[in-house]
Amino acid sequence: MTQRDQLYEGKAKKVFLTDDPELLIVHYKDDATAFNGLKKGQIAGKGVINNKMSNRLMMLLEKEGIPTHFVREINDRDTIVKKVSIVPLEVIIRNIAAGSFSKRYGVAEGVVFDSPTIEFSYKNDELGDPLINDYHALALKIASEADIAQIKKYAFLVNEKLKAFWKECGVTLVDFKLEFGKTSDGTIVLADEISPDTCRLWDSKTGEKLDKDRFRRDLGGVEEAYEEIMKRLSAHI
Ligand code: ADP
Ligand code: UDP
Repeated sequence: MTQRDQLYEGKAKKVFLTDDPELLIVHYKDDATAFNGLKKGQIAGKGVINNKMSNRLMMLLEKEGIPTHFVREINDRDTIVKKVSIVPLEVIIRNIAAGSFSKRYGVAEGVVFDSPTIEFSYKNDELGDPLINDYHALALKIASEADIAQIKKYAFLVNEKLKAFWKECGVTLVDFKLEFGKTSDGTIVLADEISPDTCRLWDSKTGEKLDKDRFRRDLGGVEEAYEEIMKRLSAHI
């Protein structure tokens, strides 16, 4: 496997072509952004933690029958993934009110839902990732009805599996964002990453935030939180 030209540099990762047209190499950086890139910073060691955590969680999900882009971890920061055409939807599942949900609907953070919610944002930085519904996604030709149904099914299944896993680690899965993509044969797979950058993870006993909200909200102890959540995960897989 030889790394070729850089395909893309995002806010948290770089993506490289390889000599295999079906495969990419993803490189995880320590760069952190929030509020659509308005707040910028670095979280020392984050790239290593997010790479390893995302890979382990994707392996767990594969075992549970959810197809993912994960192929092989090459080193601390680099992973080979299947090249997909990303469906430009941020798929957000919530178990507990927090963040933009609390703000938008005037609900206190921490209110537990009877059943999980799903929402889609149109993945478009220039437009600020606006919230959209299924009908908007169809109108914008972002995805077909069948694709949306499949994505929803996988997203709720991911929630059940991850909620149970984090519970074993003494962590409550509050909410998270997923991205899906299509491989060259049209199969929908889970792509991008699952990490403290993309999930809200609270200590089950104390409610302490062990995720990127520490960076977003200037709570301090950012690196320590990433290390703690990685330690919890490593003790269980
Ligand atoms: P952003 O684009 O939001 O700044 P990142 O820095 O995480 O995000 O960049 C990674 C980019 O790679 C994202 O745009 C993501 O959609 C894309 N991506 C993730 N997994 C794959 C994959 N398997 N194939 C192609 N693109 C991918
Ligand atoms: N999220 C993400 N990327 C985004 C927006 C949200 O990974 O561009 C994740 C975020 O980490 C949280 C969940 O999706 O776990 C819900 O985020 P929310 O809509 O509450 O937005 P925020 O409060 O981060 O603006």
